[in-house]
Amino acid sequence: MRLVVLGGGESGVGTAILGKEKGYDVFVSDFGKIKENYKEVLINKGIEWEDEKHTESLILNADVVMKSPGIPEKAAIVKKLVEKGIAVISEIEFAAPFTKAITIGITGSNGKTTTTMLTYHLLKSAGLNVGLAGNIGKSFAEQVAEDKYDSYVLELSSFQLDGIINYKPHIAIITNISPDHLDRYDYKYENYIDSKFRITMNQTEEDYLIYDADDEAISEWLQKNKTRAKLIPFSLTKTFSEGAFIKNNTMEAIINQEEFQMETAAIALEGKHNFKNAMAATSVAKLMQIRKATIRESLSNFQGVEHRLEKVLKIQNVQYINDSKATNVNATFFALDSMNTPTVWIVGGVDKGNDYNELMALVREKVKAIICLGVDNRKIIDAFGNVVDVMVEVNTMTEAVRMAQHISEKGDTVLLSPACASFDLFENYEDRGRQFKDAVHNL
Ligand code: ADP
Repeated sequence: MRLVVLGGGESGVGTAILGKEKGYDVFVSDFGKIKENYKEVLINKGIEWEDEKHTESLILNADVVMKSPGIPEKAAIVKKLVEKGIAVISEIEFAAPFTKAITIGITGSNGKTTTTMLTYHLLKSAGLNVGLAGNIGKSFAEQVAEDKYDSYVLELSSFQLDGIINYKPHIAIITNISPDHLDRYDYKYENYIDSKFRITMNQTEEDYLIYDADDEAISEWLQKNKTRAKLIPFSLTKTFSEGAFIKNNTMEAIINQEEFQMETAAIALEGKHNFKNAMAATSVAKLMQIRKATIRESLSNFQGVEHRLEKVLKIQNVQYINDSKATNVNATFFALDSMNTPTVWIVGGVDKGNDYNELMALVREKVKAIICLGVDNRKIIDAFGNVVDVMVEVNTMTEAVRMAQHISEKGDTVLLSPACASFDLFENYEDRGRQFKDAVHNL
């Protein structure tokens, strides 16, 4: 059997290792440059590879092809494979049959990483032999090759789900759905929604789908379509006989007729969106029969993930918060929603078709000044120019932070929550977040 792996990054190299171990004839091909450390691994394992090209004669003879999530379906080589009827699958699809471990698959537009890390933290703190993979850290395929874990918490992007045929998680979470990555979905929102719901398409009556019942796109899909999985909703506003919800400042999760309660004030993560993430993770923990005391303790000591509403420093009683991972309006909505003080908001970058009106009410209520940090700030200025008193444009993070310090007063918050991608001025969102933190530390 010939396995061709397109893309020589984390998931590609992991798949190649697993394929080789399982006796496949493996070939890795990357149209870009493969990083040195990955090349070394391939050479050490005796796996054939090429980079900066796709040699068709070595690719089109594949029995199965694993396409890395970064490669679009529109890529010429992928089209040719599909035309020839060769199965093009994702890493998760390739690797899952080689492990008996159960998987918890987490997808959604926002909150995937936070919910994945929190779920992992809950299960690990309970002493389960659990692994963490998907978009995070070491590839799932390589961990399957090492065969160390009884269960995995997987962060799954829609691109990974597009490449599944038979894969099913025992427990699936859809955190929420809002328009994102539409360039990969022919600019059709319904295609993107369908892609997220692929997470449940192979689930059976023994499996579970945990989802945000406040989310319009999710509710509509569930009304129109069917899943065999048992449904576990969570909500900030509704209550359920089975599911998770908030009532009188208390989070409740009722799963298999067992009830778990915890005051929201005792949950370490702040903000309504994080209560949603906590409800999703708690539902998993209850399904996995984790003890209440362990759930409570884990929720109260989980400190969050870098670049997601991360508290950086308090200087002269001004709190600086790094939410660089907010690359769309929905994420920024929840960041602004969780502000309890007048806010100096640093926003901007590469806009993926943002509708800033969704933020209007929150900006009026909470934002005292806007600092635009992007190459093209016109849309932001048009939207909020008449809404806030102070609006300035800057070109570097240092300037943005100095300006924020200048404008802010005791008791304010300075929030970096860009609602945009970072590629105009930064390498990626991590670079943007780190530059913010460095600039704050240098004040
Ligand atoms: P993802 O992995 O899906 O990008 P992250 O956990 O990295 O999600 O969070 C991305 C951004 O969205 C951050 O700004 C974070 O504060 C915000 N966020 C986290 N959880 C949610 C949620 N449930 N709903 C909306 N925004 C969220």
